[in-house]
Amino acid sequence: MPFTPTDYRPYDFANRRHIGPSPAEMADMFATLNVADLDALIDETVPKSIRQAEPLDFGKARSEREMLFQMRLTAAKNTVLRSLLGQGYHGTVTPPVIQRNILENPAWYTAYTPYQPEISQGRLEALLNYQTMISDLTGLEVAGASLLDEATACAEAMTMAQRVAKSKARAFFIDAACHPQNIAVMKTRAEPLGIEVIVGDPAGLEPEKVFGAIFQYPGTNGEIRDFTPEIAALHAANAIGIVAADPLMLTLLKEPGAMGADIAVGSTQRFGVPMAYGGPHAAYLACHDSHKRAMPGRLVGVSIDARGNKAYRLALQTREQHIRREKATSNVCTAQALLAVMASFYAVFHGPEGLKAIAQRIHRKTARLAAKLEAAGYLIEPEHYFDTITVEVGHLQKGIILAALKEGVNLRPVGKTKIGITLDEATRSPTIEAVWRAFGVIAEDRDFESDYHCLPLDMARESAYLTHPVFHMNRAETEMMRYMRKLADRDLALDRAMIPLGSCTMKLNAAAEMIPVSWREFSMMHPLCPPDQAEGYHELIDDLMAKLCAITGYDAMSMQPNSGAQGEYAGLMTIRAYHKANGEAERDICLIPMSAHGTNPASAQMAGMKVVVVKTAPNGDIDVADFRARAEAAGSKLAACMITYPSTHGVFEETVREVCEITHAHGGQVYIDGANLNALVGLVKLGEIGGDVSHLNLHKTFAIPHGGGGPGMGPIGVKAHLAPHLPPNPFKGEAGAVSSAPYGSASILPISWAYILMMGGSGLTQATRVAILNANYIAKRLEGAFEVLYKGPTGRVAHECIIDLRPFDDSAGVTVEDVAKRLMDAGFHAPTMSWPVAGTLMIEPTESETKAELDRFCDAMLAIREEIRAIEEGRMDRANNPLKNAPHTTEDLVGEWDRPYSREQGCFPPGSFRVDKYWPPVNRVDNVYGDRNLVCICPPLESYTEAEAAE
Ligand SMILES: *Cc1c(COP(=O)(O)O)cnc(C)c1O
Repeated sequence: MPFTPTDYRPYDFANRRHIGPSPAEMADMFATLNVADLDALIDETVPKSIRQAEPLDFGKARSEREMLFQMRLTAAKNTVLRSLLGQGYHGTVTPPVIQRNILENPAWYTAYTPYQPEISQGRLEALLNYQTMISDLTGLEVAGASLLDEATACAEAMTMAQRVAKSKARAFFIDAACHPQNIAVMKTRAEPLGIEVIVGDPAGLEPEKVFGAIFQYPGTNGEIRDFTPEIAALHAANAIGIVAADPLMLTLLKEPGAMGADIAVGSTQRFGVPMAYGGPHAAYLACHDSHKRAMPGRLVGVSIDARGNKAYRLALQTREQHIRREKATSNVCTAQALLAVMASFYAVFHGPEGLKAIAQRIHRKTARLAAKLEAAGYLIEPEHYFDTITVEVGHLQKGIILAALKEGVNLRPVGKTKIGITLDEATRSPTIEAVWRAFGVIAEDRDFESDYHCLPLDMARESAYLTHPVFHMNRAETEMMRYMRKLADRDLALDRAMIPLGSCTMKLNAAAEMIPVSWREFSMMHPLCPPDQAEGYHELIDDLMAKLCAITGYDAMSMQPNSGAQGEYAGLMTIRAYHKANGEAERDICLIPMSAHGTNPASAQMAGMKVVVVKTAPNGDIDVADFRARAEAAGSKLAACMITYPSTHGVFEETVREVCEITHAHGGQVYIDGANLNALVGLVKLGEIGGDVSHLNLHKTFAIPHGGGGPGMGPIGVKAHLAPHLPPNPFKGEAGAVSSAPYGSASILPISWAYILMMGGSGLTQATRVAILNANYIAKRLEGAFEVLYKGPTGRVAHECIIDLRPFDDSAGVTVEDVAKRLMDAGFHAPTMSWPVAGTLMIEPTESETKAELDRFCDAMLAIREEIRAIEEGRMDRANNPLKNAPHTTEDLVGEWDRPYSREQGCFPPGSFRVDKYWPPVNRVDNVYGDRNLVCICPPLESYTEAEAAE
């Protein structure tokens, strides 16, 4: 077409960013699917009986620049002051090399949880560094790869203590010096499990009455105590001792392991992860080797690959709730991988000397601050401290806090007559001087030569830490940058290829959406700052909640849960509180279909419910007759049902309203798992089809990246009758709270808000429609080669589809794992494996993938089918073939070659690129070896050189 300068055509910027297939590509796809257009496909696919009446309308969609302008206005309503509020949150300095190369790098933040180890070696190494760092600092042998936040980690440690303690006591002791949010979340967790909580001074601890106890180190008001005697007394009574410790302080003072602690927990926020108005940040949990099998969350371990080379993987995966369902020990799925990676790099960046110097500097500043106040006549507590002091000020409390506020400093009121002050890495002399002025002291702060300190010297740390070479590398930024790049290059994330994981919704995380996360107005806010400093946050959160209510048809929201599973737990606890308020506390049965995600039954048992499993009909739907029978049998004990919509089988069940009605008829509440909302937004409202409560995975449907296994956000929406029972503010210290902070991982909420603003109602709806189109296109292209296990009555699937690989086990000895590993050779991350049906792959392309990428994937799958056929027909060996030997690495290009297929076929199957070939860094990882020889901290350097020498 000839181009003339005046030939103006309107150009739609917005939809070209997020929606993968171009209009021309879509036209081709309609032809393949034999439908007239998208309307026709959606009409065939989504049952009329559940469609929402009115289209979603959020006004005009914003362009990227309009959204960022709006975001600037909102951010400007947050006031960033110096917050010396402590209580588990501290200012920190994120090294720019980490901010740019990790936090703001899609190679790190768009990765998935490292379940496919061969294409996740980079983040597995970074997480192993994290585990090593935690193990060293706490003085305990084993540490996990992160938990959601400190309060959740405390609650997990409590239930873990109950599992491993020999004591049969029913009570748990909580040090009254624990942070209020830790106490709150432990109380919440204890109640449905029948654990009696005793909060008090450790001096009054009666060890024989408890199965365990937790102590805060330092205490919330700065007190530092050696818990060695208490823990010894607990051990004498067969009970477990837990210490919640600040990892930075552990560089100076006696570590929990040296006190005899069995478990240590805490937050690594101050290791370079901004406070972010409460989250995200990585919590840690470490324990003795003997208890490792009872640990919650993920654990990275060292194993070997098919060539005997060292390879990392997730160890003891059978502990995960996906597999253990109601027998799970925890529901933690999404955790805080990206933040754990950041914290580990902070330790790599600073090394042990650097961390120690930071801790010493913070302490010296605190001691200087205290000395001048003491000299002015104020009473300072405690006698020995690290970074937190409490000043007795009598009736002056309000006046001093106000005076500090005028100086731009937030101080923490403690009781009615005291003020708490916590210093951090970012505190500088002007802030210290401002605090003095607020107390009426005029002085200049100089880092004088004296080594004045107030640390308890009898508790000085004696053991070494961070001795591994990784914490002693050359720290020139060139080296740091290249180490980060090297690890990132080992991994396959969304910045390289489609990650078609069913149920996980790995869609575009647009750059424009990510930018505000680093803005100081969002990242530098302390969650306990006065509300008038956080007006921007509240405007954003309120508007996001209103829009999510409009999308789901619910009446109220809670932003507290910081993962999907945490949302399930919060939602079920809300149902529990509702029944209790109605005088029906005996309702404790929860009906859950066989096909539910493993977190569903795990959360139900944590909420004190009994799980009754409902059968699946041959077409994949819930067996309504079985459901009805079980609801009737439960009768007045029915608390809830927990269903997923569209079902995890990837179809829109027509019977969903009936299932909800049956539940309601027996007085139960309907929990709908909203993880599949990507098939619904703009078309169906969960609140209208019968749901009372749902969680939404903002890190699936609403564009928050997965971060290699977290962060996430799992807010819950509820109908009005449940609203009074939503979780309260955790800082009040009361039962009911589920996270460390009132809005969970607040600083990633701008991502979802930006996504909604830029899509608008019609853009969001279009995304849903194209997600359904893409899934149906894949199902169609694979037709004939693979069987799609479940389809709706018109032969269509929802936004994902399950293909059956079980027949090939018999016909060719090929398993679902072989296919997953072979896809790596083609440069793809495998779809979800063996869930919800063993021996299948669940494929979810999302709307963000172009037709070209879908075709590349389908070509790879069809080529794999031909390889299977070659085995079936005896043209290829059953044991020595490209599938069994997958993935192939650069090692397969050199050396001896004894295989009945070419190196070319092995390394460059259809779908793979030639120039831009992704090379998995290791061959297939040996799972059994890794679990038999469990190593969960960085192996000593000799083992590296050995492996190299062996080559
Ligand atoms: C992802 C998912 C969950 C759990 O969400 P997390 O954020 O990982 O805790 C629950 N149910 C379903 C169906 C899911 O796909």
